Amino acid sequence: MQYDLAVIGGGPAGYAAALLAAGRNARVAIVETHRLGGVCLHAGCIPSKTLLYSGKRFYDATHGLAYGVTVEQARFDMAAVSARRQKIIETLHKGLAGLIKRAKIDVIPGWGTLAGPSEIRVTHPQDEGDQAEQTVRAKKILIATGSSPAQLPIPGAQLPGVLDSTGALALEELPARLVVIGGGVIGCELACFYASAGVDVTVIEMCDEICPALDADVAKLLRTELAKRGIAFHLGATVREITASEVVFAAVGSEELQRVERDVVLLATGRTSNIAGLGLEAIGVEIDPATRGIAIDARCETSVPGVFAAGDVTGQVWLAHAGSRMGEVAAANMLGGDETMAYDAIPSVVYTAPEVACVGLTEAQARSQGLAVKVAKMPMGASGRFLAEHDRQRGLVKLVTDAETGKILGVHLVGGACSEMIFGPTAWLTADANVADLQRVIFPHPTVSELLASVGARG
Ligand code: FAD
Repeated sequence: MQYDLAVIGGGPAGYAAALLAAGRNARVAIVETHRLGGVCLHAGCIPSKTLLYSGKRFYDATHGLAYGVTVEQARFDMAAVSARRQKIIETLHKGLAGLIKRAKIDVIPGWGTLAGPSEIRVTHPQDEGDQAEQTVRAKKILIATGSSPAQLPIPGAQLPGVLDSTGALALEELPARLVVIGGGVIGCELACFYASAGVDVTVIEMCDEICPALDADVAKLLRTELAKRGIAFHLGATVREITASEVVFAAVGSEELQRVERDVVLLATGRTSNIAGLGLEAIGVEIDPATRGIAIDARCETSVPGVFAAGDVTGQVWLAHAGSRMGEVAAANMLGGDETMAYDAIPSVVYTAPEVACVGLTEAQARSQGLAVKVAKMPMGASGRFLAEHDRQRGLVKLVTDAETGKILGVHLVGGACSEMIFGPTAWLTADANVADLQRVIFPHPTVSELLASVGARG
């Protein structure tokens, strides 16, 4: 069978591309070695958010005194939480598989390797360890093979109880003590979950602040709030060794060793693009030395005409929704369109408690671009709704604008469920809006989102 478009990898980037193309009457195939949905559905966005929700409910149940609520005997049942996580994954997987089937997209199980610019060799293990092989031909090919946890050469990293994020999302029992190596988004989300469930959690981060990509005010406030939940942070520290019972670390530049006891260790030290075993070199698909992912142009096409790439495998943005949009841009172009991928209005969220949600430039990024930067900030506690629901939490709304034009450059939120607010600022950035546009928006009262209007009046 000759396809119009074949995709290697059925994660958010791959299936978004396939669905768009099938919706435009193209003949489409997805080659997938595991299960449709990718990391996002099976070992990322969905399992982590499911666990975090249970953690937050348990924390609220055990810390309700300020709200006049006390629970006699709250119990965190990790086996039940884990079963619920898997049930949600299976429900979503069924929905996705149905969507793909209704769109008449062929799903070809197996490992895909590029045999040429319009040919994929698919190998699948057979019963007795044999390999069956099949060739898929397509006018255009999209590589959407995603990413895997980065492996750091830390002595002891192979010991029992040392897990990557996939392992930490699948634990069936709560450990007594968890040490998280890496205070990025994944590390902080899992630290927040386990701390909320009552685990003794320590985070060791090499940089001077957690989540270094976040606006500095936001990262600092997030850390302070997570520390209030009982998480211990060691910043500016590198891990020297993991032993059977401890993690040994030292401040950057120091030889004085410090130790923290562990049961489980989570290695959350970043991710690497899945570029091995795809036959990229053989057909001349280039790697971007900066991202260590597949190099693409603004249309998501690789150095080989007709071969495109989208999502984590490009190393551009490590987010599911960014990957999906890249997949759509690639698919449109593979069918003869001329779309470009815009990276400046991609929202990012940390689903901790409190949540963080951001879009656009941080204050530091805007200043480093030499822009005339104006910053307006408000504590979330200025909102009646926020106070009513979060009187033990601090939050922040920060607006970064161009002082000369009033253009909105970035919006950064900490507090409550601000992930549900960030689509508004994302729409403003997408529409190139300025502060005057923001001031014409009518917000519902009483909501936390009203703070965007208040901060806009200062912007
Ligand atoms: P993937 O989802 O990795 O999918 C790639 C697919 O390709 C996989 O199914 C894989 O089996 C398949 N594959 C690989 N190689 C081959 C091959 N040679 N042949 C056939 N198939 C192959 N992002 C968010 O936006 N929000 C979040 O809340 C969020 N939380 C996260 C939490 C965790 C713990 C982690 C690890 C990640 C999280 N992410 C989140 C990131 C998000 O999961 C990824 O950005 C997203 O899954 C990338 O999508 P993708 O399609 O590029 O790749």
